[in-house]
Amino acid sequence: MTTGSRWRVQADHGACMGTGICAGIAPHRFRVIDGRSVPTPEESPPDQEVWDAVESCPMEALRILDAASGEILSPI
Ligand code: SF4
Repeated sequence: MTTGSRWRVQADHGACMGTGICAGIAPHRFRVIDGRSVPTPEESPPDQEVWDAVESCPMEALRILDAASGEILSPI
């Protein structure tokens, strides 16, 4: 897991198919609302479950950015 001091997690609602995998892996950080994943809150400290959820999305609809620099940390 690549770490930054704080992460910003974004969901591409055009790509998300509402499978709920992310919410199943990290229910404290993702909710599926109207068939689309919503990261809540958008920013947080590094979190292994969030990393696993982003890596497990079959649509590659999620990504993690370093909140300070905007560098994409996952997927890579
Ligand atoms: S795992 Fe991916 S496709 Fe499934 S709800 Fe989460 S963001 Fe959407």
